[in-house]
Amino acid sequence: MSPADIQQLIDFTYIAAAIGFILAIKWLGSPVTAKRGVLVGEIASAIAVIATLSDPQVSQYKWIIITLIIGAAVGVPLGMVKMTAVPQRTALSHAFGALSAALIGIAEYYVAAPSVPRFQMAEIGLEVIIGSLTFTGSLIAAGKLQEILPQRPITYKGQNYVSLTVLAAALGLVVALVLHPEMTFLFPIMIGVALIFGIMLVTPIGGADMPTVISLLNSYAGFSASLLGFVLNNKVLIVAGALDGASGFILSVIMCKAMNRSFTNVLFGAFGQVQASAAGAKEERAVKSASPEDAAGILAAANTVVIVPGYGMAVAQAQHKVRELYDILTKKGIDVRFGIHPVAGRMPGHMNVLLAEADIPYDRMMEMDAINGDLPQTDVALVIGANDVTNPAARTDQSSPIFGMPIIDVDKARTVMVIKRSMAAGFAGIDNPLYYLDNTMMLFGDAKKFVGDIVRELSGGSH
Ligand code: NDP
Repeated sequence: MSPADIQQLIDFTYIAAAIGFILAIKWLGSPVTAKRGVLVGEIASAIAVIATLSDPQVSQYKWIIITLIIGAAVGVPLGMVKMTAVPQRTALSHAFGALSAALIGIAEYYVAAPSVPRFQMAEIGLEVIIGSLTFTGSLIAAGKLQEILPQRPITYKGQNYVSLTVLAAALGLVVALVLHPEMTFLFPIMIGVALIFGIMLVTPIGGADMPTVISLLNSYAGFSASLLGFVLNNKVLIVAGALDGASGFILSVIMCKAMNRSFTNVLFGAFGQVQASAAGAKEERAVKSASPEDAAGILAAANTVVIVPGYGMAVAQAQHKVRELYDILTKKGIDVRFGIHPVAGRMPGHMNVLLAEADIPYDRMMEMDAINGDLPQTDVALVIGANDVTNPAARTDQSSPIFGMPIIDVDKARTVMVIKRSMAAGFAGIDNPLYYLDNTMMLFGDAKKFVGDIVRELSGGSH
């Protein structure tokens, strides 16, 4: 085969891979087709990698194989983390992806420097800036989610102006390099400024906004890969990066809407700037608590039950017990549905994945907007390890860090029962006035154990 034939074959393979990526994203949009989406995405990635490695420009494989082995040795254990740790793991993936894009851009620069053509200089400059800021930003996000770094927003006066000035400085350095390619000493300064900007971008962001940040960093990593595709003239990288960047961007917009955050603020890293809130101080008020026996009695007397799962259900791995509860209540003729908040748990779709794993029918899982209208007519709202996503302070307390975030209106149900282990706060670190309402009962205990106990009571102690 002539080199031209090989190139043509590679191009065709790239088109096939790109079609695979598009189908994968489409199928990932629904729980019914998601598995197929993952499989097709994996196959398309493998095809793209094999095609790239077959390129005659790849002159030797030694270093590729060595780095492949090292990468796999690090990557495989990273992939084995618990599902609750997936957000920080994802943030680390974005950090590595962005770092590799930045490093390749840096290598391309030094191969050609100082005579880098102007257009290519602009491409490399932007790509390295986005890659570098995504690298440090993602590391900070992972550190916050892993609680190595403080989760609270770290802010100071005039922060947005300082951050924007730093970003402008990085972009100014690209312009200077385009105009004066001989000033090669500016390149490492530009990298340093971009790395610092990444830190400044994520440090002011608090826990409640972290999901949007992760998705936004995903988008940045995708766009930097796409720009790298232009630098390397690699078509599949352009397409895959653009798909990654655009889908991450769309997800960020959807999450902003779900949390009622302004997208412009997110884009400029200025969000999460909250005032010290009155809601932060825990109220010393009494709550009503109940036993599994009481809870079983109340559930058995209900006609309609809405279960609202949250992070605690994931921690306790209570989804299979929840399935048993669903089965037993449904058998008694009770209408049981699940209210799923878009940011419940620690990653988008977290609750859907867990409930699907326990074979809860998809048509019983309702999105927040679909269930909220029904809650005032619901007999029992059973909250299982969810906290922030049910906090009515988001509707009423302007000083609350989560003010404006739409919540699942469990407080409007006739009776609310909340399974959690203590009065401890959720991810946003704030107290929840729901627990002190007259119609609320606290069911203190581990979610798996407590739901299991309720199931046992409902099945007459024989379960
Ligand atoms: P929260 O983190 O607000 O609350 C979870 C609650 O579960 C805690 O209050 C905890 O209380 C309880 N809990 C923990 N372990 C157990 C257990 N074993 N058994 C019973 N209860 C348990 O969760 P939500 O799902 O309500 O809200 C998600 C939060 O996470 C939001 O603030 C969201 O912004 C944020 N977030 C979401 C991401 C996403 O993409 N979905 C990603 C990153 C952050 P106790 O200790 O008393 O048991």
